[in-house]
Amino acid sequence: MAINGQCSCKNVSFQLKASPLSRVLCHCTICQSFNDAAYGDVAIFRAKDVVMPEEDTVNYQAFTKPPIVHRGKCKACAKPAIEYVSLPLTPKLVIVPIASIQDPDLIPEASMHIFYHSRKNEIEDALPKYSGYLKSQMALGLVLIKGMFKA
Ligand SMILES: [Zn+2]
Ligand SMILES: [Zn+2]
Repeated sequence: MAINGQCSCKNVSFQLKASPLSRVLCHCTICQSFNDAAYGDVAIFRAKDVVMPEEDTVNYQAFTKPPIVHRGKCKACAKPAIEYVSLPLTPKLVIVPIASIQDPDLIPEASMHIFYHSRKNEIEDALPKYSGYLKSQMALGLVLIKGMFKA
């Protein structure tokens, strides 16, 4: 299986070789401003399942100290393209905004809302909604571990 990813101007391109561990809707303020949207709709992959884009097409920036999530925008169109997580002692993860997946129908439905306390709008759906930093992190951690065992 290979799913193609690209930014809106196609300058950044990458390949996904397996299904994501999970897809989540993140209402944290960084995702809101990075995606210029009410929340980030992202699929999370194991780094080994992703053929990363050419380094010089992406501008990576971390918005926290220490830098955990490196968020990449296309150098040409400045739209969110791809992100990666680097934390010691944890498997490397790659976060892909659904907007940069060519055929989003190949990605499973979102499993939950996280950081719901900083939501811009109430969301009327049946998905679980986690508020609070710790609860959101734990819910995300659990769903990722579940994804790793399923794969
Ligand atoms: Zn672009
Ligand atoms: Zn977020």
